Amino acid sequence: MLESVLNVRFFAKSCVVLACLCAVHFIVALFFYLRESPSTFTNHRLIPSDSHLVTSQTHRIATLVIQYDNGTVETGVNKLIYTNASVIKDDVEKPTVLESCPETSPLLVGQMRVEFSETVHLDMVRKENPQLVMGGRYKPSDCVALQKVALIIPFRNRDEHLKYWLHYLHPILQRQQLDYGIYVIQQEGENTFNRAKLLNVGYTEALKEYDYDCFIFSDVDIIPMDDRNTYKCSSQPRHLSVSMDKFGFRLPYKQYFGGVSAMSKQQFQKINGFPNNYWGWGGEDDDIFNRMTFQGMKISRPSGDIGKCRMIRHSRDKKNEANPLRFKRIAHTKQTMNKDGIKSLKYKVINIEKDLLYTKITVDIGKP
Ligand code: BGC
Repeated sequence: MLESVLNVRFFAKSCVVLACLCAVHFIVALFFYLRESPSTFTNHRLIPSDSHLVTSQTHRIATLVIQYDNGTVETGVNKLIYTNASVIKDDVEKPTVLESCPETSPLLVGQMRVEFSETVHLDMVRKENPQLVMGGRYKPSDCVALQKVALIIPFRNRDEHLKYWLHYLHPILQRQQLDYGIYVIQQEGENTFNRAKLLNVGYTEALKEYDYDCFIFSDVDIIPMDDRNTYKCSSQPRHLSVSMDKFGFRLPYKQYFGGVSAMSKQQFQKINGFPNNYWGWGGEDDDIFNRMTFQGMKISRPSGDIGKCRMIRHSRDKKNEANPLRFKRIAHTKQTMNKDGIKSLKYKVINIEKDLLYTKITVDIGKP
């Protein structure tokens, strides 16, 4: 009897202890909940439109790095950022803090089939690239691109080729996680074509629009066959079209720098840009090679496998006949390169057309 009374007492005491523990647990939980609640925040983190935020992983406490469109960078540890734009209210759950994109994009697929048998319609290309912004501009939404890349295409009467180029290149450049813009530089009139001068114009015009740090100079008829051939700049000027079908998938000669190439702003300025006085086909790429050599630069290239590309077959354009003066000019690059180049460039913009897929700039570049 006595034993069962003791058992009941012990049970009652245990219940009281348990109830007390629950109450303490509830109070502690309530305290932390109220402390963390967004409604008690007096500050809101404001993200400037058109800026990227990245966290530096070298610090245990995230360092905010803001990259503005004009290239300025702001940093600060756990800094609150304000602009006169509206407050992003749900940033507590989904902070708009972007990290840098990785060195190698995880979206790459490697080798691709490239062929030119089916007609490409630009409306389809526009629909297939919904993330593009007017002017053929794009930047990844989930990370900060490592480079801001302007793609410059010298152009005249090659609309069919341009369609293929846009159809293939837009998805590739997006998979490569680049912050990029497409600039088609169209030579006005019927004078002899001048590829290198158009490239100089493209460089100058692109920089008026955005703080690009890398420039890809591409012929309109060359399509890469492997998206691991990243359209980015390196510590040395980079030649990208290293194994073209036209040349049996190998370099025609070691110094070849034609087709598609990449140069940073610094590299381009160091060689005073490209020559302006190569009218007609040939030689200007050899002159560019000479300029780089005289400035002590070396060419970087992807492997022949990754650098495979296809050229759309075509007959030689009218008013782009082989330049008979090219051999003479190439022999004198050292004497001419400081006088003739980006510093002495003269041209007149006739028209700027903004399409979702590209910016087309029509220019009068004069005549030979
Ligand atoms: C020309 C270059 C051209 C190369 C390949 C050379 O003779 O000077 O401009 O890119 O041939 O066709």
